[in-house]
Amino acid sequence: MSAHIRPDLDAIPAYVAGRTQAGVVKLASNETTFPPLPSVAKAIAEAAELVNRYPDNAAVELRTAIAEFHGVEVENVAAGCGSVAICQELVQITCLAPTDEVLFAWRSFEAYPIVTRVAGAKAVTVPLDGEYAHDLDALAAAVTPNTRVVFVCNPNNPTGTAHGRAAIERFLDSVPTDVLVVLDEAYFEYMRLEDQPNGVELGRTRPNVLVLRTFSKAYGLAGLRVGYAVGDPAVITALMKVHIPFSVNRVAQAAAIASLEARHELLERTDAVVAERDRMRAALLEAGYRVPPSETNFIWLPLGDRSGEYGEASAEAGVLVRPYGADGVRITAGAPHENDLFLRFATDPATVARFLG
Ligand code: PMP
Repeated sequence: MSAHIRPDLDAIPAYVAGRTQAGVVKLASNETTFPPLPSVAKAIAEAAELVNRYPDNAAVELRTAIAEFHGVEVENVAAGCGSVAICQELVQITCLAPTDEVLFAWRSFEAYPIVTRVAGAKAVTVPLDGEYAHDLDALAAAVTPNTRVVFVCNPNNPTGTAHGRAAIERFLDSVPTDVLVVLDEAYFEYMRLEDQPNGVELGRTRPNVLVLRTFSKAYGLAGLRVGYAVGDPAVITALMKVHIPFSVNRVAQAAAIASLEARHELLERTDAVVAERDRMRAALLEAGYRVPPSETNFIWLPLGDRSGEYGEASAEAGVLVRPYGADGVRITAGAPHENDLFLRFATDPATVARFLG
């Protein structure tokens, strides 16, 4: 007889990662195509020499470096095994009863419903607006006395859309101060808005606002799994209680510290990614696609129920992209030659006729 597993897990989908296939270009996981800088590779190699020892469970050196970078105290910073682990921990520290609600826009980062339901809490979703952006008024209106946490993914994964500072501030000011608002800024470094919203700044005077950032995207450490939260010390202390001990490993901590030291060089790379993203969007608009403006390292094609078929056709043409159910397809801005391969497929008159006709 097999072991008893809680039956509700049958109805909870597992996280679906972007596909990988040898010899095929992968534009499916929002990774950066740049390899680690030599200084980061050196820090990784040095840390690898010591992996017979546990890492620092409190990640003090890394948290101190992050705190200095943001001009906050170390008590304001938590590190996690990727920011996705912190999403899970945030639900764990806020929700206990099945009536406790976790609120987020949909479609958004696919981990939100999973971590909510695994915690036994109730997922409440608010549809994106007609421009594939967060409907912040509807989100604020959906807050109830049972709402424990609101995830605001800005810019939004997978649609790429972002709100500026004024809109985010208005939203934050309309949410009760006992509801934790999580500004998930995984793609912060790719934003080029005039009215740039910076969750760390917005959270300084708002103890119920917490910001998530990651080393996986612009900093290029997706394979090492390290992200962080900046927020009120009371929230950070709670996060550290539910944290899986030692889950931010020694190599990840060393690489993240070295990446912060080299941040000017790493962040300069985002300009090239942004240029590629904008080039891809322009070519797709020209070919007749609808493409919402993106403030991330990817673009979104709202292809509805043709999305899965489009993903297959693109894979056959040598490029793995990421279809999302019957909503759309997300394509990461990769290296120029990879993006060219995708654009060749996407703008081919046969593709256009088949999917936009
Ligand atoms: N938030 C958002 C919006 C994301 O897209 C991702 C990665 N797909 C994450 C969080 C988690 O990133 P990581 O766990 O690699 O830090």
